[in-house]
Amino acid sequence: MDTRSIQSQRLASVALVDWPSIASLATAAGTLVLAVATFAAVRSANRAARAAEQSLLVALRPLFLPSRLQDEQQKVMFAEGKWLHVAGGCAAAMAEDGVVYLLASLRNVGPGIGIVHGWRFYPGQESGGTAPDLAEFRRQTRDLYLPPGETGFWQGAFRDTSDPQHEEARKAVESSGQMTVDILYGDHEGGQRVITRFGLQPRKDAGWLLSAARHWNVDRADPGEATPPRKGNYLMSDPRRAGLPRVLNDPFAQLSGALAGTTRMRLEVVDNHRLTPAMQRVVLTAPELATFSYRPGQDVMLMVGVDGDRPVRRRYTIQELGAGRPLLTMGIVRHDDGPGERWVRAARPGDEIEAIGPRGKIFPAPDADWHVFAGDFAALPAFFAMAGSLPHGVRATVILEVPTPDDEQELASEADAELIWLHRLGHSLGDPAALVDAVTGVPLPPGPGHAYLAGEAKVVLALRQALAARGMADDQISAKAYWGLGKANALHGEPAKNNP
Ligand SMILES: Cc1cc2nc3c(=O)[nH]c(=O)nc-3n(C[C@H](O)[C@H](O)[C@H](O)COP(=O)(O)OP(=O)(O)OC[C@H]3O[C@@H](n4cnc5c(N)ncnc54)[C@H](O)[C@@H]3O)c2cc1C
Repeated sequence: MDTRSIQSQRLASVALVDWPSIASLATAAGTLVLAVATFAAVRSANRAARAAEQSLLVALRPLFLPSRLQDEQQKVMFAEGKWLHVAGGCAAAMAEDGVVYLLASLRNVGPGIGIVHGWRFYPGQESGGTAPDLAEFRRQTRDLYLPPGETGFWQGAFRDTSDPQHEEARKAVESSGQMTVDILYGDHEGGQRVITRFGLQPRKDAGWLLSAARHWNVDRADPGEATPPRKGNYLMSDPRRAGLPRVLNDPFAQLSGALAGTTRMRLEVVDNHRLTPAMQRVVLTAPELATFSYRPGQDVMLMVGVDGDRPVRRRYTIQELGAGRPLLTMGIVRHDDGPGERWVRAARPGDEIEAIGPRGKIFPAPDADWHVFAGDFAALPAFFAMAGSLPHGVRATVILEVPTPDDEQELASEADAELIWLHRLGHSLGDPAALVDAVTGVPLPPGPGHAYLAGEAKVVLALRQALAARGMADDQISAKAYWGLGKANALHGEPAKNNP
């Protein structure tokens, strides 16, 4: 074979082997170009959609400022039929017949309609740089809309003389003192909420001059913040603080494992009042409660706050669930401080909170002839729910340590129930002595019986030991540590495992 034939053979073989590959390569390159073009088109479509969404949101956004001094005087009626006048750029206030009236003349300088959600009052000048807690806002009883570019007003009143702020507001108004009002409002879609802090400075002649001290964005980053918030939503509505991450790292995002069979609900506060000196009665509702079932002694887990990007939950027993009415009642012990305490202190009708339930594995033992319940005040709702569900003729002894005699409550039960109240009075919190004495002396009749212990962690431990010393077997005792003295519960609502 001469050199030429070798070359032509090589060429032929190149021609034979490579044309399809080249064609495939060309197709692949074409596909890639198309993919890049499609990707670029989709990206730019997404970008365009985002830009459109952004500009829509911007167009909906309200922003409240004091109206201008030259703006017209407004005449506004309150529920009692009382009229108040307020000049442009000013606020007006009056205390009369047990009601404290507050009124401010505002201008909406944003492009969207503004809707007032609530307000928060401080006597004097409130300056702090941190966004106020949404849980502390009072709801408007009347819908207040402020059209874009127009003047309007905000009004609020203290009518309940037992409300501690009533007195503070009355004094501030009657002494023509400085006042601060935070107004929470949003766009007419219910989003893009803003808190604007208004200062009310007394004028020499009469009334108050209004100034806007700060604005906080609730649902998005403040304009001065370096990092824009990530997309997403909180799983709770209230209480929510401005400036927190918008995506929560929630271990209970999926209701599986121990939470299988539970329901996530948005409960709305219907009523919240002091039932006894140390116990708050909170009544909540949600549509899901109409079909909600639970066993006496079970609880729900409320998302009472956020720590970093983690939800803070606290557990409270279902004391009652209205038969046929979707109303859930809780009894919550008031104490010094904690996220749960702060929530219950501030909760007002209309506030919403995320709840998961039912939770808990302690119920009345079906085969027991007698039942002994022993614990501190936090156990009252669980013990009342369980003892209250026992049938006629079954023997139950409920031993509860409460702060004062005024904290005693009535137990409704068909069972043969005896209530033993211990009053803590001067004794220190978390001291198990009185409860241990009581369970040491309580009759434990023959036959199958069961004991239920709940309250402060060390108290529960001491009670378990006292009953074990009296011969009760482990499987006859259901004990649950509810809280730990001097230590906050863990984020999931139970005493932290490292509680000594
Ligand atoms: C299954 C279950 C059911 C429960 N049911 C109820 C219920 O129906 N009603 C109820 O009131 N509680 C109930 N609790 C207890 C309640 O969840 C705790 O008391 C919880 O610690 C309250 O949260 P916090 O945020 O207010 O306080 P935390 O942040 O947990 O604690 C802050 C501080 O408050 C103190 N503290 C906490 N609780 C009390 C208290 N009760 N008395 C005095 N000081 C306290 C702590 O020692 C700590 O120093 C239940 C707990 C569990 C696990």
